[in-house]
Amino acid sequence: MNASPESLIRSEILAMSAYAVPSSAGMVKLDAMENPYTLPDSLRREIGELVASCEINRYPDPSAPALKRRLRMEMKISDEYDILLGNGSDELIQIMIQACARQGATIMAPGPTFAMYRQYAVIAGLDYVGVPLAPDFSIDLDGFLSAMRQYRPAIVFISYPNNPTGNLFSADAMERILTEAPGLVVVDEAYQPFADGTFMTRLPEFQNLVMLRTVSKLGLAGLRLGYAVALPDWVSQFNKVRSPYNVNVLTQLIAERVLAHGGVLREQALAIRVERAKLASALGSMSDVIPFPSEANFILARVPDAPLVHEGLRQRGILIKNLHGMHPLLDQCVRFTIGTPAENVLLIEALRAILNTRGVAVADRVG
Ligand code: PMP
Repeated sequence: MNASPESLIRSEILAMSAYAVPSSAGMVKLDAMENPYTLPDSLRREIGELVASCEINRYPDPSAPALKRRLRMEMKISDEYDILLGNGSDELIQIMIQACARQGATIMAPGPTFAMYRQYAVIAGLDYVGVPLAPDFSIDLDGFLSAMRQYRPAIVFISYPNNPTGNLFSADAMERILTEAPGLVVVDEAYQPFADGTFMTRLPEFQNLVMLRTVSKLGLAGLRLGYAVALPDWVSQFNKVRSPYNVNVLTQLIAERVLAHGGVLREQALAIRVERAKLASALGSMSDVIPFPSEANFILARVPDAPLVHEGLRQRGILIKNLHGMHPLLDQCVRFTIGTPAENVLLIEALRAILNTRGVAVADRVG
């Protein structure tokens, strides 16, 4: 037997790294844009009863009618559009790319942005073009439009607000891209619960617009549920690529029940927004930290030495994301997910200690 991974696996896959998730046991977890709050006890009990009575010996209903009805109500989705459910919005990104993976097709996004657009494009054997944002993280519209003319992307992904920069792009720039795109434009609103803008209400204006959402950042990351909303002609094609039972029975039941108490999640999102403002001002008051404005549940910040800050926080039991080296625009940048008030205080205190120590260390060396 002469088979080896090198002889069988495609070179693009061999060259890739798997999505890395660091161990977080016992850590203050501010690295993955999770909602830090838990559900009220009464709702947790209801979920316990639902799970106890669930027929897990049966396959889930792939059309998930109760959950879709609830999503329509809660997210104000009109009957003219169909909903595609995914095992996280990650899976929906992959489904849409796979469905459009004609030979030589291109996927495009302004960047830096969510890494999985590129990852899934490469997995599908497609070209990926990341068009650099302007230094203030706005879309370089001329650059983007000219890249679209050159590469004719099958799908443009726009993270709105953008991960990891946290900002909402200008609605004017988005409209131009939607109007001039030769293919689909997926507006990925993973962070919409924390933002003041949405394109969901703009669906009637653009036949090529697909809205992508998730319940992960709202507070249900562990359930793995994402949804895409688009004209039925698109959704019926994507449905062919979807695995038959991709959203399991427990996810369907629990998500439907929690969304029926949608007020709880909305209040938590509001609390996160309040904490975001406090964290932004605390970071802004530190002389060597530059926080960037955010409409998401995280804040991107430039620090004097991102690897040192990341490691210093890790040693103090706080996990954040180091983005240094991931994109030229992210030089010395780290991303802090908004935690509970107590976690955010811990973060700021630890950051002060690390940056002060660093100041002393540098002064010592210079001296
Ligand atoms: N889109 C964006 C912009 C994200 O940042 C993420 C997760 N970090 C996702 C989609 C995927 O989220 P999920 O698979 O949990 O729905």
